[in-house]
Amino acid sequence: MKYRIIPVTPFQQNCTLLWCEQTRAAAVVDPGGDLDRIKAAVAEEGVKLEKILLTHAHIDHAGGTAALSHELGLEIEGPGKDDEFWIEGLPQQSQMFGFPAVDVFSPDRWLDDDDQVSFGEVTLDVVHCPGHTPGHVIFYHQPTALALVGDVLFQGSIGRTDFPRGDHDTLIRSIKEKLLPLGDEIDFIPGHGPMSTFGHERQTNPFIAGRFG
Ligand SMILES: [Zn+2]
Repeated sequence: MKYRIIPVTPFQQNCTLLWCEQTRAAAVVDPGGDLDRIKAAVAEEGVKLEKILLTHAHIDHAGGTAALSHELGLEIEGPGKDDEFWIEGLPQQSQMFGFPAVDVFSPDRWLDDDDQVSFGEVTLDVVHCPGHTPGHVIFYHQPTALALVGDVLFQGSIGRTDFPRGDHDTLIRSIKEKLLPLGDEIDFIPGHGPMSTFGHERQTNPFIAGRFG
């Protein structure tokens, strides 16, 4: 699997294009907006976009979903069902943050623990990591030790929990009990900012370091 990060929206959200090297089938994770830039990346890489994967339904991650799905006939997989209220609230989110108007959508598939998503010959494991939003999921590609974690964990920080149905203790538990046990060596693409590894964050992230045992 190959990937290309495409920062989108005024929040510089790390939308990521993933593709299968064998078949060129591709998926886009969290197309929050700036669809022209996403489509340009698809064309430049010469891949065939097949589906949209969502970690959670905040506007900067999910805002371009309805338009892109409609235009290209893409299936939508994710986030977890508990983020449905955020999807229904996308029009209000777009107003609040000064984004272009967006439509709501209905995912073709809600995701939960132990689910898998696939495109071409690539399979990603799904892990439910609530706390930032209740239905937040992350995607993990075991063969290349790469995870896409949305707004659960950042280099040196963690996701905000001051939005409706966010919860700090739940987020810390998701990170400690579900994310980090995947392995220190795993590289991750966060929803914002630079990449890091789970091991680096386990040792240095002030929000989680020293909170084991
Ligand atoms: Zn978010």
